[in-house]
Amino acid sequence: MTKADGRTRLNIMTFEIKRRPLLRALGLVAALAGGGAEAQDPYARERAALLQEIAAMARDTGAETGRPVFNARVMAAMAKVPRHRFVSALYGPLAYANHPLPIGHGQTISQPYIVALMTELLDPKAGDAVLEIGTGSGYQAAVLAELVASVYSIEIIEPVGKNAAALLQQLGYTNIHTRIGDGYNGWPERAPFDAIMVTAAAAKVPPALAAQLKPGGRMVIPVGGPGEVQILQVMVKQADGSISTQRSLPVRFVPLTRSR
Ligand code: SAH
Repeated sequence: MTKADGRTRLNIMTFEIKRRPLLRALGLVAALAGGGAEAQDPYARERAALLQEIAAMARDTGAETGRPVFNARVMAAMAKVPRHRFVSALYGPLAYANHPLPIGHGQTISQPYIVALMTELLDPKAGDAVLEIGTGSGYQAAVLAELVASVYSIEIIEPVGKNAAALLQQLGYTNIHTRIGDGYNGWPERAPFDAIMVTAAAAKVPPALAAQLKPGGRMVIPVGGPGEVQILQVMVKQADGSISTQRSLPVRFVPLTRSR
């Protein structure tokens, strides 16, 4: 989903060879912890391999993102959330490949590296209340829910949002609050937020979202209109209410649509 996409396959092959001892160590820890973790979680190995690929991509893109090494808490959340549950059974074997996948209704679950990067750039703190625009599969919301106190996530396509809400409940996430609606206007009843993540591309930053950010709060949002290159932006609201903006990587997201 980013220009780094082309390297994915090569990365998998190289770190498989280099990282064997680590994978074995992870397996041992899992075996000591619960016994037969592989049997309980058939994707444990693939998920561990994906984490190594994310770490390698973080290093490769570090000069552009300013984050060559992702926070251990962010990586632990990526290691914990079962991505295969957020895609249709048809895509199960691809769930831990570092690619976006279709989730129906013309929407996609983002590339895992991009989920990790956006989470990293948001600097999530344990006590934070975070607003997400674009629930989609619910995967990003689950990753955030591992890291912060509460997640508020809005989805504009009703069946997509309902599906995600049911899955998140099934997985036991009690700190994720979902809503069907147009996220362009944010969630004023629950504002202000410590952080806001937008997972659909906007031509311009929706003013309501900037307004619903606490002073010191951060927003991560892909910005770019139809046919334009989208740039992942990190915005920080200063104590005086002004907003500073940093540009990160070029990305490709589905558009932020508007209800009429
Ligand atoms: N975060 C998701 C991926 C998002 S794909 C995941 O982890 O799977 C982008 C999603 O944003 C789509 O589901 C799309 O329907 C939704 N979306 C687009 N415009 C929106 C809007 N104005 N308000 C809320 N959701 C929106």
